[in-house]
Amino acid sequence: MGPDRLLYRKRRRDMTTSRIPGLHKMARTERLDAVADAAGLSADTKAALNRNSATADLADHLSENVISTIEVPLGVATNLVVDGTEVLVPMATEESSVIAAVCNGARACRPSGGVMTEADDPVMIAQVQITNVPDVAAGQAALLAQEATIKAVCDGCDPMLVSLGGGFRGLEARTLENAMLVLHLHVDVRDAMGANTVNTMAETLAPQIEDWTGGTVGLRILSNLADRRLVRARARWSAEEIGTDTVAGILNAYAFAAADPYRAATHNKGIMNGIDAVAMATMNDTRAIEAGAHAYAATRGPGYAPLTRYWQEGEDLIGEIELPLAMGIVGGATRAHPTAQAALEIMQADGADRLSRVTAAVGLIQNFSALRALATEGIQRGHMSLHARNVAITAGATGAQVDQIAQEMIARKTIREDVARALLSEGAS
Ligand code: NAD
Repeated sequence: MGPDRLLYRKRRRDMTTSRIPGLHKMARTERLDAVADAAGLSADTKAALNRNSATADLADHLSENVISTIEVPLGVATNLVVDGTEVLVPMATEESSVIAAVCNGARACRPSGGVMTEADDPVMIAQVQITNVPDVAAGQAALLAQEATIKAVCDGCDPMLVSLGGGFRGLEARTLENAMLVLHLHVDVRDAMGANTVNTMAETLAPQIEDWTGGTVGLRILSNLADRRLVRARARWSAEEIGTDTVAGILNAYAFAAADPYRAATHNKGIMNGIDAVAMATMNDTRAIEAGAHAYAATRGPGYAPLTRYWQEGEDLIGEIELPLAMGIVGGATRAHPTAQAALEIMQADGADRLSRVTAAVGLIQNFSALRALATEGIQRGHMSLHARNVAITAGATGAQVDQIAQEMIARKTIREDVARALLSEGAS
């Protein structure tokens, strides 16, 4: 790919129209033609979008108005031991240094036994909003009195789930400050992420809920604050392995995050670097997981808090993570996508439980490595070395040039696209 291909701004033409009637009904290649015409794409750009036709045809079934796919690097994190079992973890991320950080952090806790986890049952929450209830307390009591019927309706929506040991587990009738009544359904969704499963139950119940409460049902949808589906992971990093200065540095970094939401947001972002990458590799819903994680971070303390904790036992550092993880190995795109299936096979995740435990372990280790880098040499040295390769590619380097240009920029301590371009032209002349 030459540098000019990347400079789309140079070639940009005004869009003729964003109105393309019937785009959704067209075959994928016709759709690409229509978008290419409207956006004035060159033949080269169109060809670049028309690769990987098998993958794009699959994608066409997963989403809407699909014209192509975008590749995200799929790497494998090594060195993890989770609950005493060795595991290779596929991670899909475009961000450099994320996978390397997990490999390094996992290696450092291997001598202390790796990561141990605990997980709640996979219970999701569906919410039913009820407004205009004439007597909120009476409506609340009426819902609680109907638990047996509600259970029968919910379980009746998914006999397959019940046969697998899942189904309705309980309910809660909450009142909000604005006099709204909210019914929560607690449903064990087994190996599914569970959104569609519980949404169907909430929708099916709606007419009866109006009869019981005398109110009007509004929204019927899951809560992404899946705080009945928490996963915890814990690891020990011995002072002998990482050094007493690093132990002190990480405790200091943790104290900063615990006291300051500005820092906690970045602390948690680093955790999600790892968690999202496993979710993406297995085609789980990254947005649902992100929403759950940040909402949980905002509700577990007086303000927005870090999802990990660190403390010292003797000289050693102990780290622990706790967060909701609504992840599945069935449903959504996971079953449909062969790469997601291959990812589950690599990590030998035979159920949503194991997938969630390994993912929580990755989040913890990711965080440990980020804090170790920040607390010692700073994050930029390692990060920028890997980033240099991206910059070299962006400037148009290919094949062996990528490493040559990256190394040269690192040696000059200047990692910038204009420098990479200059180095490329020097090489060419
Ligand atoms: P799904 O709709 O495919 O339902 C899973 C079904 O698989 C169950 O109903 C069950 O009958 C069957 N099944 C077979 N084997 C199973 C097993 N071992 N364990 C559990 N179920 C088994 O999938 P889902 O998980 O209900 O929904 C996930 C999808 O919903 C994702 O694509 C997500 O993006 C999407 N979604 C998310 C939101 C949100 O997060 N707010 C909202 C709507 C939809």
